[in-house]
Amino acid sequence: MTVIFWFRRDLRVQDNQALIAAVERASSENSQVAAAFIFGRGFEELSPIRRNSLITSVSSLSQSLPKGLQLSSGETGKYLLDLAQTLGANVVFATRSFDTHGMLEQSEVAEQLYAHGVSLQLVGSNYAVEPGTVRKDDQTPLRVYTPFYKRWLGHLGQRPFQLDTSLVEWVPGSGELPKYSPDCKMPIKASESFALETWHKFRKRALSDYSENRNRTDLSGTSHLSHALAHGEIHPRTLLAEMGDSPGEEVFRKELAWREFYADVLFHNPHTYDGYYEPRFEKLRYDSEVDNPNLEAWRSGNTGYPIVDAAMRQLLTTGWMHNRARMIVASFLVKDLHIEWQVGARWFEKLLTDFDPASNSHGWQWTAGCGTDASPYYRVFNPTLQGYKFDPNGDYVRKFIPELRHIPGAEVHEPWKLIDGLQNGYPAPILDHFVERDEALARLEEIKG
Ligand SMILES: Cc1cc2nc3c(=O)[nH]c(=O)nc-3n(C[C@H](O)[C@H](O)[C@H](O)COP(=O)(O)OP(=O)(O)OC[C@H]3O[C@@H](n4cnc5c(N)ncnc54)[C@H](O)[C@@H]3O)c2cc1C
Repeated sequence: MTVIFWFRRDLRVQDNQALIAAVERASSENSQVAAAFIFGRGFEELSPIRRNSLITSVSSLSQSLPKGLQLSSGETGKYLLDLAQTLGANVVFATRSFDTHGMLEQSEVAEQLYAHGVSLQLVGSNYAVEPGTVRKDDQTPLRVYTPFYKRWLGHLGQRPFQLDTSLVEWVPGSGELPKYSPDCKMPIKASESFALETWHKFRKRALSDYSENRNRTDLSGTSHLSHALAHGEIHPRTLLAEMGDSPGEEVFRKELAWREFYADVLFHNPHTYDGYYEPRFEKLRYDSEVDNPNLEAWRSGNTGYPIVDAAMRQLLTTGWMHNRARMIVASFLVKDLHIEWQVGARWFEKLLTDFDPASNSHGWQWTAGCGTDASPYYRVFNPTLQGYKFDPNGDYVRKFIPELRHIPGAEVHEPWKLIDGLQNGYPAPILDHFVERDEALARLEEIKG
């Protein structure tokens, strides 16, 4: 008998509770383990940068397993069933998913396998505390972050899991990785060991100043661990186990808890992946996304507001965007362009190499004013002031907008005020922020009460 392990968003060997369970089962039955990864149905729709990033992660994982991965593309349940039948396996292990699509996928796969006598064992999660665990005294879920955080702290303490891969025989890998997209030239580094290296460097380099610098778009003041957490190259348990109580560590722990809070909210409200958490915002008047030139300007980083455009170009060229910048561009889309948050969330999903359904949908809803703990809808970010505040020397803007590199210092945030500001083809603002802010507030009035 063979035990199959199905890798999903847990692309690591160490501190992987479900993989350990699979190995223990195989070891107790004196059988071997086949480790599989399937590039699912949506893979081809991702941007080249996201596709290449996933291929890199999976390729690194395959190299770090004793005999590599069984690789396939297409229909997950069918492939796992074929593999089980070929290898004579009656059990598949995997990490349990708690997001909308992940839950649906695992229940479909379980049904498909079960119909042929193969069981799907879901173990652990990609979170320090499993979504659904933190609850109020009356057992209902929490809707506000701070009380969630306080209770979440009480559930921490699980030590990272260690795996000895030599405990069992591994089935030699088979199949091929999809081809890297030639449309993306950016070199991508991603693996379990790179994630650990990134974490250890961040601890030395920036964790102590994290609380002061994390909002500065021009500094590398954050961990850049979001890709690794989203792909599961590192588990938050591993990070938390190595953290103390310095002010930087306290704030960093709170950020990890935002990820867990949003996962918990999405688990309890699966419709909020693309539906409103606060339903009255469905009635707000939005502009159509169809043939909307402003949407194209936003996507391509040509709105004429430098901080917005730098951020959107950072996303296009690197597949990542600074958290402060995500809030600024999200506010701009919803409150200056009056376009629904789902349009922006879909664009992020296509491009972000750290795409996470819960953090993305709820990051958008928070900024749009319709999520949990929402920043109130009437708080509209002024993109120019945000630029001065969080990119005080203009370095972030100049890094991503070559047409503005001739402008030194912070003046780069208002190029339209300079005689030569727009000389290299950078556009004038496509709209007047103050006019659109008033328009957003007027539309809010219509749904009040
Ligand atoms: C509109 C919008 C969309 C977003 N979409 C995503 C997404 O698809 N995937 C994603 O991982 N994050 C998303 N975020 C949250 C946040 O922007 C990123 O996690 C962060 O920028 C990643 O960079 P980092 O790893 O250097 O973060 P750090 O500041 O080093 O934080 C460490 C980790 O904590 C978690 N974290 C930090 N801030 C948040 C937050 N506000 N919400 C949830 N988790 C957080 C992340 O896992 C992050 O890697 C979004 C935020 C907004 C406002």
